[in-house]
Amino acid sequence: MLTTVRGFKDILYPQSELFTAIEIAAREIFKIYNYKEIRLPTVEYYELFVKSTGETTDIVEKEMYKFEDQSKRMLALRPEGTPGIVRAYINSNLNLKGENSKFFYIGNMFRAERPQAGRYREFEQIGAEYLGNASPYADAEVIMMLDSFLKKLGIKSYTPEINSIGCTECRKKYRGVLINHLKNIDLCDDCKNRIGRNPLRVLDCKTDRDKLKDIPHIELCTDCRTHYESVKNILTTNNLKFKENYFLVRGLDYYTRTVFEFKTDQLGSQDAVASGGRYDTLVKSMGGPDSPSVGWAAGVERIAMLVEKNDTLIKEKDLFFVVSMDKAYSEYCLKILTELRKNNIRADFSNFSVSIKSQLRSANSNGAKYALIIGDDEYKTNTITLKNLSNGEQKKTNLNEIIQIMH
Ligand SMILES: [Zn+2]
Ligand SMILES: [Zn+2]
Repeated sequence: MLTTVRGFKDILYPQSELFTAIEIAAREIFKIYNYKEIRLPTVEYYELFVKSTGETTDIVEKEMYKFEDQSKRMLALRPEGTPGIVRAYINSNLNLKGENSKFFYIGNMFRAERPQAGRYREFEQIGAEYLGNASPYADAEVIMMLDSFLKKLGIKSYTPEINSIGCTECRKKYRGVLINHLKNIDLCDDCKNRIGRNPLRVLDCKTDRDKLKDIPHIELCTDCRTHYESVKNILTTNNLKFKENYFLVRGLDYYTRTVFEFKTDQLGSQDAVASGGRYDTLVKSMGGPDSPSVGWAAGVERIAMLVEKNDTLIKEKDLFFVVSMDKAYSEYCLKILTELRKNNIRADFSNFSVSIKSQLRSANSNGAKYALIIGDDEYKTNTITLKNLSNGEQKKTNLNEIIQIMH
């Protein structure tokens, strides 16, 4: 028997419906904040992610789905959305369009990490990117937009954490200070590897967290400090509660200044629902115009887990199930079904040739609220017996009455 590949899964109803509800909520938020959708390709040149996500990141080093196609080009399944957005922004000169460069994407991403509970090799992300705006108001806007999105879904159990990792200059100075301190600490093997290449990432290590308590914090330059203070002030003025976390550095190379994670304690060790940050130099480093930018990405699977724990988003219309006592009434039944559907009433049937018991079983398994039962009398008098399947009450009525009541 053929099965799904390890690390991949089918998303069945009603989870599929929950995912759709989350996507719809995101789209509504993006409309309100004036973000425009870009539908990105799933496959990109492998080089795109090496240049943007970064050569020394776990994603590029260990987790990329890369492959050579028939023409010997090195390609990759996208592991995240930001590089594609930046590439599209540069390719289509979107900075010259004279409008706000605010984009969103919704799509599946791929990472060949070890499959573990709740983590799959294909997963869905919703992301927002605000390109070409260096102002702290852009940072605050994307953070507040993420907050509105989660609130709209009824999710309350999260804390936004923020930090500033400074600009290239700030980090150049900090690198030396950090390496000097880290040299004297017995770090895990991963971190020993990181010191020479990307020492900042050591701060992110959960294994070594306790050994890093006395590590000196980054000293921000005047501009970076002013920017960070402004972001915090705007958030506070707008009643967005956050926590500062000096250990928050994010695992990607392109971040500068503000980084943030929306954390929850509801999902065990996978504690970030969404995360993001500023990337002031990425667009230029990829050959585009100087476009300081900021954005975030949220995992739909994790959001779905939080929604399931809080509230249900799926509000389906009542389902009407047409049931025929005999196949002789099939045409009359089909006419009713068609009229209901034409009038935007959710209606279904199973098989008019099988027993009424079996048809009612289908009605129940489909979660129908009402059965519309058609027998000899109903057929002859152009009526319908409407049965409420939750309390068993039934009454004689007709199609027009049902349509009128439902409107
Ligand atoms: Zn700086
Ligand atoms: Zn470590």
